[in-house]
Amino acid sequence: MSQREIMDILILGSGPAALCLASELASQKLNISCISNESPDNKWNNTYGIWASELEELGLESFLSHRWSDTVSFFGDGANSTGNIATNHSYDYGLINRESFQKELLKRCEGIQWFNETATEIIYKGHISQVVCKSGLKLNSRLVVDASGHKSQFIKRPKIKEVAQQAAFGIVGRFSSPPVKKEQFVLMDYRSDHLEDKELLEGTPSFLYAMDLGNNIYFVEETSLASYPPLSKDCLKKRLYRRLEGKGIFIEEIIHEEDCLFPMNLPLPYKNQPILAFGGAASMVHPASGYMVGSLLRRAPKLAKKLKVFLNNPELSSIELAQRGWDVLWPFELVQRHKLYLYGLNRLMSFDEAMLRSFFINFFRLSTNEWSGFLTNTLPLPKLIFVMSKMFVKSPLKIKLGMLKFN
Ligand SMILES: Cc1cc2nc3c(=O)[nH]c(=O)nc-3n(C[C@H](O)[C@H](O)[C@H](O)COP(=O)(O)OP(=O)(O)OC[C@H]3O[C@@H](n4cnc5c(N)ncnc54)[C@H](O)[C@@H]3O)c2cc1C
Repeated sequence: MSQREIMDILILGSGPAALCLASELASQKLNISCISNESPDNKWNNTYGIWASELEELGLESFLSHRWSDTVSFFGDGANSTGNIATNHSYDYGLINRESFQKELLKRCEGIQWFNETATEIIYKGHISQVVCKSGLKLNSRLVVDASGHKSQFIKRPKIKEVAQQAAFGIVGRFSSPPVKKEQFVLMDYRSDHLEDKELLEGTPSFLYAMDLGNNIYFVEETSLASYPPLSKDCLKKRLYRRLEGKGIFIEEIIHEEDCLFPMNLPLPYKNQPILAFGGAASMVHPASGYMVGSLLRRAPKLAKKLKVFLNNPELSSIELAQRGWDVLWPFELVQRHKLYLYGLNRLMSFDEAMLRSFFINFFRLSTNEWSGFLTNTLPLPKLIFVMSKMFVKSPLKIKLGMLKFN
């Protein structure tokens, strides 16, 4: 490819967002290239969990490496953090088989040219955009889609003082005795009786996310849903070890460690910029749960089809194409839902551990369709408002006040 050639779309990144969108665009017969500072064949580091229904609805359930039907949470006995009463979710959860999922997406990206480069600058040249790479390579395109993740240096959005982050520290390994029941998935174990009162009062609450991976291997992760400033890796690690020790469990072998930190409340990007984004860079993480892969899979096909239509008009400049793209990615309905989720997250972050346990006990008393629809961001706006109002009405007074900013 010559540096003078003008592509239709240039995508930055080779993570889930870049591959989900590129694989859809590839079938639209456009002239597309991707730039990533890593080879697209490099294995993804993160462990991606998802509700099984999200993949089933797309006919992609074969990409689950693990699937659990015994899915539970522990919120203590309500009044305090002890008690072994499990909240049964009765809703299948799974782990995505990263290798086969990534391979399949790359297969669907056939025909797309990859540049192993780091983008350092994007220049808007009147009608088209130019991506300047660290090596000096310059590539021209009618539209640049930034899928370089949450830390994108190119996407402009309103600045906020307190970026709440989800932080987690996890271990895949073998243990002296099972940290969770055989064949069980634990979404949230908020029991905190292994911590002293002082520790409870001091820090942001955290919970255990854990699962049986078979062959006596388990994944245990101490997670803080969202906080500003975020809980440090050291603190999460200490809490995880304390939690395990509290149950008399010792780590026998560490197979893999996961260190997780990403923003939950990034404002939506401005729509009047010459670049479009997708994935973390486009603030697509669900602000109340931290999940995103389901959204990528649901939203990529429509965006790809619409981009093809917009690109059919040779008159449209990068800024006009990007604006049309933003309108498809973040229509009124999704913007309003995002605002409601941000409000909810904000309130949750002000709750202490006891309030969080009380909140979640009530949350999972909603019908399965309601709570799962909330967590996967698949409830239409009126239904989402209904569910949030129902939650409010059914909550204890202290939680009601907390939801209304009176705590
Ligand atoms: C540890 C962890 C666990 C998570 N678990 C889940 C989960 O279980 N379920 C879920 O739904 N979500 C999960 N998330 C949230 C979210 O889905 C992930 O953060 C996801 O990886 C974001 O995808 P992305 O493609 O937008 O960005 P990334 O995965 O961060 O990919 C960005 C890509 O851009 C490339 N890049 C960056 N800068 C440049 C540049 N200047 N030039 C060229 N290339 C560049 C990088 O090499 C990379 O390929 C998790 C996040 C983390 C951090």
